[in-house]
Amino acid sequence: MVQDILTIDIQEDQDEDPPSTPRPALWADVPDEKWNDWRWQMANRLNSVEELAQLIHLTSEEIQGLRADGKFRVDITPYFASLIDPDDPNCPIRRQVIPLGRELHAFNGMMEDSLAEDKHSPVPGLVHRYPDRVLMLITTQCASYCRYCTRSRLVGNPAQTFSKVDFEAQLDYLRRTPQVRDVLLSGGDPLVLAPNVLEYILSSLRAIDHIEIIRIGSRVPVFLPQRITDDFADRLKRYAPVWMNIHTNHPKEITPELSRALEKLAFAGVPLGNQSVLLAGINDSVHIQRELVHKLVRNRVRPYYLYQCDLVKGAGHFRTTVAKGIEIIEGLRGHTSGYAVPTYVVDAPGGGGKIPVMPQYMISQGPGKVILRNYEGFITAYDEPADYDPHMIDNLDHQSLHRAEEGQGGVWGLLNGDEDTIRPEGFDALHQRNAEQHRLNFDGHKWERHHLNGNGSNSNGHHNNGHNGNGHNGNGHNSNNGDSH
Ligand SMILES: *Cc1c(COP(=O)(O)O)cnc(C)c1O
Ligand code: SF4
Repeated sequence: MVQDILTIDIQEDQDEDPPSTPRPALWADVPDEKWNDWRWQMANRLNSVEELAQLIHLTSEEIQGLRADGKFRVDITPYFASLIDPDDPNCPIRRQVIPLGRELHAFNGMMEDSLAEDKHSPVPGLVHRYPDRVLMLITTQCASYCRYCTRSRLVGNPAQTFSKVDFEAQLDYLRRTPQVRDVLLSGGDPLVLAPNVLEYILSSLRAIDHIEIIRIGSRVPVFLPQRITDDFADRLKRYAPVWMNIHTNHPKEITPELSRALEKLAFAGVPLGNQSVLLAGINDSVHIQRELVHKLVRNRVRPYYLYQCDLVKGAGHFRTTVAKGIEIIEGLRGHTSGYAVPTYVVDAPGGGGKIPVMPQYMISQGPGKVILRNYEGFITAYDEPADYDPHMIDNLDHQSLHRAEEGQGGVWGLLNGDEDTIRPEGFDALHQRNAEQHRLNFDGHKWERHHLNGNGSNSNGHHNNGHNGNGHNGNGHNSNNGDSH
């Protein structure tokens, strides 16, 4: 019996072609080897009303969007277009890539560069916002264009892309910036670059000793899975560890073609994550998100971030409230595998980076007790130790590597005693209100805190006593050595 089943399975494997997305009549005559060739897919992308009308029943608002002057670029690979429901104007695939007239409407808070990326770039295309990692934009081109794209200010324009001169300036910055240990390649989409250019960048990065990991953010596996050939996966192996974040928003994007591409990447040792954008009318539903994350983990992809839609031009009609994102996390955490739950983030308008937002699980706190609730609403008390010694670890702590954060210690820096306050720009001048120094007790030291034995209140108070060896305290107003008063 068991053997019969095995035999049948093997025969089925031999007889059937691997499953694939049905091809619309428009491309019925295209030979498989062309359809499966990423260069053919790129060369035959759809972008006009006339081309798209051959495939789908366009609504008048779509026609208006496609004909609008000054719109963000439209281009859709035949493969991705074949996933569109030709008769459903609300099709989630269609809504991501076909513009609507309302895309051109302005909205409150709208910006062109909402994350202030161009302001935080030491050299063009290199955004150095965090202490130890950088975003490296290496192309402005994508396989298809998402209507809500955060970088529509520079993406899509074929006349404006990054050149070898830019790459050299970016690499030069990285070579002389040893605190960078993680480089995130993005764009545009790094995987549409000519293969030799991409390899040039990967190998140049790999030649820099302090760069520990390379990450690629790419929507190519979704728009153009044909690009992920065995040969490509093999080449990526050479630059390991390379991590990749793909970008899916709806379970309909996870096709047999994408699954095969992901398998090739996973077998090449590329750890896979996914970034989604929360989009009104596309995936702002707990049920759709659950189906999406389940399909992702089945394909060895860990949901990484769920983004609140940015305040970017063109994206107004895709925006949801933040409450919707919190509700989605409420519907995932505890209800399904922890592996399947992304971190919901708002990318700070104005350029503060990603800010995680989640439901409130800590209900209250008192000396010795923390009151928590779980996803079911079960409420419990956690008894904290009365004799916890935060200094027990000090010896090991001093032996571990301390990385400089160059003025970016933030709230953790307060806990660590590097700083006593974080003040908005101009705070001191404002509160002095042009007054003279107070004539009584004329002593500038009276505002300095007394820190006995480190900073007194925390576990890591001795960090700065020369153990980190990297000039971390260069700002001159640190006083937590315990001997400064
Ligand atoms: C998102 C982002 C990163 C990477 O952030 P992680 O939270 O480490 O994934 C780095 N730099 C910039 C500018 C970013 O926007
Ligand atoms: S693939 Fe990424 S960079 Fe390209 S249009 Fe979509 S969101 Fe923008």
